[in-house]
Amino acid sequence: PGTPDVEALQHADVAERLPVPSAESDKYRRGVVGVVAGSARYPGAAVLAVAGALHGGAGAVRYVGPAADAVIARFPETLVHAGPPAKAGRVQAWVIGPGLGDSADARRSLEDVLASDVPVLVDADGLRLLDRARVRARRAPTVLTPHAGEAAALLGVERGEVESARLAAVRRLAAEYGATALLKGSTTLVAPAPGQAGPVRVNPTGTGWLATAGSGDVLSGLGGALLAAGLEARDAASVAAYVHGLAGRFAAGRDGGPVGASDVAAALAPAWRDITS
Ligand code: AMP
Ligand code: MG
Repeated sequence: PGTPDVEALQHADVAERLPVPSAESDKYRRGVVGVVAGSARYPGAAVLAVAGALHGGAGAVRYVGPAADAVIARFPETLVHAGPPAKAGRVQAWVIGPGLGDSADARRSLEDVLASDVPVLVDADGLRLLDRARVRARRAPTVLTPHAGEAAALLGVERGEVESARLAAVRRLAAEYGATALLKGSTTLVAPAPGQAGPVRVNPTGTGWLATAGSGDVLSGLGGALLAAGLEARDAASVAAYVHGLAGRFAAGRDGGPVGASDVAAALAPAWRDITS
């Protein structure tokens, strides 16, 4: 039989990878996440990505972008920075993209974070601005978190082509971009970066209630928190998908029901407790 090329993510695998603070922990060791997200048009995406990072266990979150007032109003614990990401101080991982738009500042910020030597998670508008050769040239890990439409654009194919062959698409993304690829959808798939052996991981915890605006923004912040905590890129991506899916279920309740992305962020802690208890 040989090595399987797909594996379902197991509860126990996630439990052993979730970071739990110890007596030696401080906020820097727990991980500082830099979030570059939001725009005048989409300030809420910044708030949700920050929510995902804070409720995802970050020691601290630095926010860079034009939605600082909205972020601070909801999360006063956020450190906000007016300048470009390169001047924001040390972070252990960057998240860039939700609601970012395509302004000159957005492009410059993307270049800044890709030039950094820490892991970078790119989502949403960040994916639209992404240059393949630039990502391939990075030495630190990159994680891409597209839904099917974003994946199709990254691969230069029609959306239907991704949807009809999701496994092939996530593998191709990882190979072409030299990155860990997380393809969102009713079942989320995570392909390791080239050079990392191992199967594509399939997340079993999702729920259709997660198909709601901003839910992906929460996932990006959570993935960033796990990268900042020191998880390997494919572990950060697959553990994020697992906890996010479970949080969606918890938020929706036992019998299911509509949830907003803010509810999903707030349910990350109970999902986390469920996994680690
Ligand atoms: P985005 O498209 O960026 O807003 O992200 C949507 C989030 O919801 C992702 O985490 C998806 O995996 C998840 N999602 C969307 N549709 C479904 C579905 N039908 N079943 C389970 N999860 C879903
Ligand atoms: Mg999205």
